[in-house]
Amino acid sequence: DEKVRINKYLAMCGIASRRAADQLVLEGRVMVNGHVADQPGLQIDPKHDEVIVDGRHMAQPEHKKVYILFNKPRNVITTSHDERDRQQILDFVDVPERVFPVGRLDRKSTGLLILTNDGTLAHRLMHPSSLVQKEYLAELDAKFPGSMLSKLTSGMRLKDTGEKVSPCRAKILDDGMSVLVSIHEGKNHQVRRMFSTLGFEVKRLDRVAYAGLTPGELRRGEWRYLSRKEVEHLY
Ligand code: URA
Repeated sequence: DEKVRINKYLAMCGIASRRAADQLVLEGRVMVNGHVADQPGLQIDPKHDEVIVDGRHMAQPEHKKVYILFNKPRNVITTSHDERDRQQILDFVDVPERVFPVGRLDRKSTGLLILTNDGTLAHRLMHPSSLVQKEYLAELDAKFPGSMLSKLTSGMRLKDTGEKVSPCRAKILDDGMSVLVSIHEGKNHQVRRMFSTLGFEVKRLDRVAYAGLTPGELRRGEWRYLSRKEVEHLY
């Protein structure tokens, strides 16, 4: 990632001229990632470092709102802070804007995620009342019998916590070992837990559609910007 000198960054945030920013640093009024930054030559990463001056969080004015569709590979984590340095989404999606994922996919899960710097849209899509449909292809450890389909779709109680999930749609695919499930909620590990409640283990879980968006040409690890039309459709 592009690093910049702290005084330049503070100037970009509109807090002070570069020279005045040097003074703020020398006076010990600038914190970077929780530590007083007292070296005027300090280089920071505007996308990831947290900079606070006199208790105020600094942020560059966002240039523009961006919306990205990403096809997450297995073993990539959705959260952006990780002590163990595992692969993260931002290792794949290298854009100048500070984008964050809308919702989560388990580390082991693959498939579609939206990234954006538009907090309003993100909030809306993640709100429990949002009816955004997410479609998952679940590969199971055994054949799923047609006779159990209604148990899956009619709004079950999860066996681990007793939480109730909303009714959903599902379809067993040809081989019987895979089921397409379409839900609008996003409880933690929801799909895996739904199958687990019925005695099945999900071997692979792939999000194949999000709000009508599908991977198209996007292979694992690839991303693209959404078109204006696609963004309007999400709003
Ligand atoms: N349900 C799950 O169990 N895992 C996911 O990543 C998404 C939905």
